[in-house]
Amino acid sequence: MYQPSLRRFLWGGVGDQKKVCWISWDKVTLPKEKGGLGVKNIILFNRSLLAKWRWNLFHQSSSMWAQVLQSRYRGGHNLCAQASSQKDSIWWRDLLMVCGGVEEDNWFDKLIEWRVGVGSKVRFWLDKWVGPTNLAVAFPRLFISSDQQLASIAEIGAFVNGEWVWHLRWRRNRFEWEIPLEQQLLRLINSRIFNSSQCDSWSWVAESSGMFSVKSAYQIILAESVTIEDHDIFKLIWSIPAPPKVLFFAWRLLNRGLPTVDNLARRNILLGEHESKCIFCKVDIETTTHIFCTCPMVDRVWKQCLSWLNCPAPLPRQIFDHFSFLPAPIQNESEAETWHTVWLATMWTLWRYRNKCIFVGGTFEQGSIVRDILIFCWRWLSTLKPSFAYSFSQWSSNPGPCICFNGCG
Ligand SMILES: [Zn+2]
Repeated sequence: MYQPSLRRFLWGGVGDQKKVCWISWDKVTLPKEKGGLGVKNIILFNRSLLAKWRWNLFHQSSSMWAQVLQSRYRGGHNLCAQASSQKDSIWWRDLLMVCGGVEEDNWFDKLIEWRVGVGSKVRFWLDKWVGPTNLAVAFPRLFISSDQQLASIAEIGAFVNGEWVWHLRWRRNRFEWEIPLEQQLLRLINSRIFNSSQCDSWSWVAESSGMFSVKSAYQIILAESVTIEDHDIFKLIWSIPAPPKVLFFAWRLLNRGLPTVDNLARRNILLGEHESKCIFCKVDIETTTHIFCTCPMVDRVWKQCLSWLNCPAPLPRQIFDHFSFLPAPIQNESEAETWHTVWLATMWTLWRYRNKCIFVGGTFEQGSIVRDILIFCWRWLSTLKPSFAYSFSQWSSNPGPCICFNGCG
């Protein structure tokens, strides 16, 4: 229930009315620096919370609640080796499923390391207690011929006169070529010293303390669930001095998530030829690149912005490069930040004019577009950038020196 209402909040839409979700939910739930909005993915977060139950069930196995669960549900410590049954409660089935039950991908098991104490809970072949993988994976030939495939460490070894001794049993005699493998296995398992006065426990590899945390579990399963586009640009967007709704617009723009004709076509929404034309020049088909960068009318606006810095260089034609481009006079981070505000105010103003022309009517008026850009920039910079201290008349009469030290005056 929570996720649909979040989607509605983000994309609009009342009641059951369907709206196009412009950007995939997987993308929305990515952290901001990875190109998302940092909205929690409730399903994955729920998994992380359930994982905490599994952690506690194991570590507090002598507590009353754990004992009740274990007697009710066929003993809990082998949770990951069980398949769920229709008779189990929904909660228990969820717990089995999300915590790497046999039907899942064992994500939980990959994140724990066993600390062997008495060895009664650790499965010799199947749990990862020595080396980087479990022994069944490290020694598949030996595992196949083992007669103790499901046995715990305590069932295979024991202290004899203060020394740990293994009693490995095989279904058949070793082949000659298996002898070195067996010796290798023994060397590995003899490298571990057991302390039978301690309980078996888990260490959580994602935290330096070794203790489970919901936060680290969530971050890891989130990172694994989607392919992450690690674009530096997305880290930059959110630091531009501009109001949140405008930053959200920039995020949609760079994610190809605005309803331009090309983006509509990608979602199988096709418009007639007339409606597909750029509303400004009325010649070319409206694409994101065209309406924001390459339309001849829009190009004039950009040239005017660049003239403030006495920088006639042609701007890149692709939206990402266009954003990354810094006019030559820009020398430092603070100046780049101010330029990004100019860039964003220009994009925002162009979009507003484009919508006004389409839905209300009107034509392209360069003068009023540039005036709006100057007003937006000044408002955003004077409220959100502490070092920006120019009056509106100083700014609007000569923006160059207010943007950067080398701007023309
Ligand atoms: Zn055009």
